[in-house]
Amino acid sequence: MKIAFIGLGAMGYPMARHLAKEHELTVWNRTREKAERHAREHGTKVAADLAACAAADVIITILPTSKEVDEIVDQLMPSLRRGTLWIDATSGDPNVSRETAGRLAGKGVPFVDAPVTGAVVGAENATLTIMIGGTAEDFEKAREILKLNGKTIIHVGPVGAGHAIKVLTNSIMGATVWITSECLLLAKQYGIDIKTALAVTNAGSGRSNASENLLPMRLADHKWPLVFKLAHHDKDIRIASTIAHQQHASTPMLALTQHLFTSALNQLGDQADYIEVAKIIAPMNGTSWD
Ligand code: NDP
Repeated sequence: MKIAFIGLGAMGYPMARHLAKEHELTVWNRTREKAERHAREHGTKVAADLAACAAADVIITILPTSKEVDEIVDQLMPSLRRGTLWIDATSGDPNVSRETAGRLAGKGVPFVDAPVTGAVVGAENATLTIMIGGTAEDFEKAREILKLNGKTIIHVGPVGAGHAIKVLTNSIMGATVWITSECLLLAKQYGIDIKTALAVTNAGSGRSNASENLLPMRLADHKWPLVFKLAHHDKDIRIASTIAHQQHASTPMLALTQHLFTSALNQLGDQADYIEVAKIIAPMNGTSWD
């Protein structure tokens, strides 16, 4: 299968590497050097220009937001061929993706939203969970390709459903990271060693991905790697809030989580990692994690 892969960021770079094991992969990236490095390291081909991506049987995008995806759709629109499948693995906006799917349908190009979860380590190890919105037929085609990237691939509904569930599940994670950090800080202020507090949490009913995998490295070992930009996480929670508004829903926890994450982003800046929100909680309480 000829696949054009657009967006070699933290997630896209390793995902494209796995796809290249079984497919003829052409890669395009805004910063061309990354595409050239990918070609050298993984035997992929660098697209001569963006328009060259339109010759593929399948186009995969994984970009920061639906806005950048839409810009790429606009640029490729004149060259697109009937029957090419467009898989958008961005954590995007379901409202935008439904419109995008409608525009592409006019060219005979089916679209599925196929966001992923499992972090960079999941992309590296091809253990991502992938949630797909689209028709049953397009889902099957997308699954055949994305099985190289993930073990769990779920059809969640029509176009937009993948993007919707992705931002909702990330909102759950955001709220969990915040409340877990708050309670661990309280434990520390009470005089309980942070490793002990984590051990008890992880052996009990408060355990979560945050307490088991995300926070120990940062709070106990003081290592703060950049794996998922806070700006991306804030974007996801904002999209979830939009869904809540559209459904006239009462979601105070979601609203609070969005305010906290946006406030943290404004304080920490565009290049912060999402778990750095825990850093904000210590000065909010006149203390530090050290
Ligand atoms: P990165 O910021 O690492 O990479 C973004 C990619 O998009 C880069 O290839 C960048 O190109 C490209 N890009 C940015 N702006 C534009 C533009 N205007 N036009 C064209 N290309 C552009 O992001 P991630 O890989 O971390 O995330 C990508 C998506 O995956 C996001 O929606 C995110 O929410 C989601 N996601 C991320 C996870 C993670 O752990 N990182 C986990 C699950 C989902 P360039 O190299 O030139 O900057």
